[in-house]
Amino acid sequence: MHNHQVLKSMHRARFNAEPALFVAPGRVNLIGEHTDYAEGFVMPAAIDFATLAAISPRADGKIALYSENYGEERHFDVSAVPTMKASKHWTDYPLGVVSILAGEGHAIPGFSLSLWGDVPLGSGLSSSAALEVATALAVLSVIKASYPGPQLARLCQRAENEFVGSSCGIMDQFISANGKKDHAMLLDCRDLSFKLAPIPPHVALVIANTMVKHSVVGGDYPTRRAEVEAACAVIASHRPGVSFLRDATVDDLEQWGSEMSHESLKRARHVITENLRTVAFAAALEKGDMNEVGRLMAEAHTSYSQDFEGSCMEADAMVELAQELPGLIGARLTGGGFGGCTINLVEQSQAKAFAQALGALYAGQFGIVPQIHICHASDGARALS
Ligand code: ADP
Ligand code: MG
Repeated sequence: MHNHQVLKSMHRARFNAEPALFVAPGRVNLIGEHTDYAEGFVMPAAIDFATLAAISPRADGKIALYSENYGEERHFDVSAVPTMKASKHWTDYPLGVVSILAGEGHAIPGFSLSLWGDVPLGSGLSSSAALEVATALAVLSVIKASYPGPQLARLCQRAENEFVGSSCGIMDQFISANGKKDHAMLLDCRDLSFKLAPIPPHVALVIANTMVKHSVVGGDYPTRRAEVEAACAVIASHRPGVSFLRDATVDDLEQWGSEMSHESLKRARHVITENLRTVAFAAALEKGDMNEVGRLMAEAHTSYSQDFEGSCMEADAMVELAQELPGLIGARLTGGGFGGCTINLVEQSQAKAFAQALGALYAGQFGIVPQIHICHASDGARALS
């Protein structure tokens, strides 16, 4: 699927040097939404859409960055790395990685880096994490250093948080660095311990992009986060051991929910029950109980939509329309909310027909043609020979 030979020849022609090649995948979260910052559980899978990085050293003290997606090449002085700042340009992501590695004490030499990816940009499938992780592996190869996957993920997350300036959790970089073919990963956002659960070979991951992203007044990510934290503070005032909603229970809500705002109570109920569902989902996958998997996804969507109020008309419709179609195991809105993509677990043999029919139904209802991708769980980042 990824034509790395093409990127290799492009790199050779452009930079007149033989590159080493690396790949890092995008991801989709199967269940566990808005649980990460409550130190809870998420369950992503790496997908077979990825970013490729071709790298070769250079002797002139320059960093040359080329993205085939943007058809653009930019040059920077290695000596400027320590004082570099983000400039709201795609080069922020690779430069962020370089800057974090430099901050870790690595001497950064000059290099040429060519990038190309088929993860749709800005669609919620984490092309940014794929780019960071691919870049990190590439640059580390030039400086002859390496990190274990979890640490690599942390460095890339820091590049996005501290350099690019986007407040993402650890999930995207973690699964991109550590994913496994045909598996989803139950990741504990508290201590980054994880467990892999198999996705049966007869199941495809069908990702349907609603093509909308609403900014709801009073309904954005920071507001939701504040509501979650306010609920946690109420519980913590009674049970000091509770530092995050990860530690809270449905019982806590029954006892002290009346001290919370109506919104905080609902948001907290979503987070607390979502953690339980995510752990149950991993157990169901482990057993191959696809009925239970589908049931938990449906419950998760309802909770996300009604308690968290993180969905929207289009995403609710995309989930509802899927219910009518043959081959569906489970469907829900995935990602930060207010639009974006739904994830559908679908029988592989029916995935193509499912994708076509879902696209047609959604287009008929909203007059928007959705992008629908049929994916499979793939391996995490690695070198390509
Ligand atoms: P997502 O991670 O959901 O795809 P983001 O907004 O977090 O969306 O990241 C998308 C950004 O990452 C793009 O706008 C671009 O700046 C950068 N990016 C991702 N892939 C590439 C690539 N192959 N080449 C250059 N920039 C890329
Ligand atoms: Mg991103």
